[in-house]
Amino acid sequence: MKTAQTTRRIIETLSRQHPHADTELHYRNAFELLVATILSAQSTDERVNLVTPALFKRYPDAHALARAARAELEPLILSTGFFRQKSKSLVGMAQQLVADHRGAVPADMDALTKLPGVGRKTANVVLGHALGVPGLPVDRHVLRVSNRIGIASSDDPVKVEDELCAALPKDMWTLASDVQILHGRRVCRPKPECDRCSVRKDCDYYKSLNDTRAVRKARR
Ligand code: SF4
Repeated sequence: MKTAQTTRRIIETLSRQHPHADTELHYRNAFELLVATILSAQSTDERVNLVTPALFKRYPDAHALARAARAELEPLILSTGFFRQKSKSLVGMAQQLVADHRGAVPADMDALTKLPGVGRKTANVVLGHALGVPGLPVDRHVLRVSNRIGIASSDDPVKVEDELCAALPKDMWTLASDVQILHGRRVCRPKPECDRCSVRKDCDYYKSLNDTRAVRKARR
């Protein structure tokens, strides 16, 4: 594992490579981001962004969504996949916001993760991007990138979140997630494009690839 200082330097380097890293979901407030993030499960941000304008027009807040008829809601979100489960989560989430929080999205991890369809990753996305509370969402990209570089060492998202949060100041948590997500989508894909990577000198995976190549060459 890298030191906290090295981890910070790596995130700063990645943020220079991806200077506009941010969630790619379109939203205007915490409620919209919460809805969009729930819809993004097993889907893509692009697909979600196609359905949310009509969805937010029909259901502009938790009070409206809490009263939604599933038969009316489901066609609007059908293309994001798993639409029955998602419509159940969305209506349940909105009803609980109305019942427990007067329709507002709470700026609190425990309260957020009590909402239907909201796990730690979704809560961190909303906290960090729309509520001004530091959060470090760990998705499959963050898992892959952080483990390859060697700034985390687990396939458990909660453990990786703990490791990264422990190494970084709070004001870098959301940035650390955003830059690794973008890096994982554009450069450090399942088949990585290491020649385009700004942190390859610090990357354990890149080093192990080159060590393996050197051994093969020496044996020839
Ligand atoms: S050097 Fe390669 S494996 Fe390492 S972070 Fe960059 S793209 Fe990923």
